[in-house]
Amino acid sequence: AKHASKQRWCIKNVRATFPKREKYAHKGSNGRGLVIGGQQTMPGAIVLAARAALRSGAGLVTVATIKENLPIVSSSCIEATYHLLPNLTDRLTDRDLEAFEKIDAITFGMGIGRDDSQLLSDLIEKLDKPLLIDADGLYHAKPLLETLLQHKAPIVVTPHYGEMAMLTNKTVPEVKRSPFSISRQFAEKYQVYVVLKGKHTIITAPNGEQIVSDQGNAGLAKGGTGDVLTGILLTMIMQHEELLPALANGCYLHGTSADYLVEDNHTERDLLATDVIEGLSQVFRTLS
Ligand code: AMP
Ligand code: MG
Repeated sequence: AKHASKQRWCIKNVRATFPKREKYAHKGSNGRGLVIGGQQTMPGAIVLAARAALRSGAGLVTVATIKENLPIVSSSCIEATYHLLPNLTDRLTDRDLEAFEKIDAITFGMGIGRDDSQLLSDLIEKLDKPLLIDADGLYHAKPLLETLLQHKAPIVVTPHYGEMAMLTNKTVPEVKRSPFSISRQFAEKYQVYVVLKGKHTIITAPNGEQIVSDQGNAGLAKGGTGDVLTGILLTMIMQHEELLPALANGCYLHGTSADYLVEDNHTERDLLATDVIEGLSQVFRTLS
């Protein structure tokens, strides 16, 4: 049958698909990522995503957020640059669009809150860039699902089971009962990539092809780890030719970092999202 295979992604697949690091690379050629989000009460999510993107090898990361966040976010991630938005609800200005012109991929939604906002519809309509939507951004995406087909570059959504239930008008137990078919229906209907996050993470392409990432452990069941995954995926999207292996490799890095950390310095109890970022070095060493 067309959809019979659900490939389990392992180190062999990662080694076969992982992009080489160019010797003559410059920061521009390693990808310019944009992270948009962060209410005043939730600056941590964008710090985690930006730092994770940089630790995964992005050349440049810009964080677009409100000025109230600048002191905390910029001192926690001094390698990033910042683009200030007057608020997280209005349409993007020409100045914003011009500043985002050279960006290679965008992630939207971490810590952005659930108030009505015009930002996401502008990103879909006005910027032809790969767009990853996560966390509160998924609540903004729900009324726009029918418009996603208009976007001229790939769209990735990264819901956990609760967010997937919200997006599909189902209950969490219903999503748990049929995560593969619900992911596939959603991916095919809206022509998006779906990363359904849980103990096992299911990655689905718009054509219905699916991959399972079973790396990771219960140490990840903690605030902030999803934001770290988003940052890693942002970089993977910029550095791979194909999206499905990009997403699978990102999930592999995230889960395996947590697995190594729990074998060595940490336990599932004390593991934090920031540790998962620092643990990436150890995983990259096994790939070269
Ligand atoms: P979020 O729900 O957005 O905070 O994301 C949580 C991240 O941690 C996702 O990448 C999940 O796949 C991962 N995760 C959460 N709980 C577990 C678990 N018990 N085992 C393995 N991975 C997990
Ligand atoms: Mg999350």
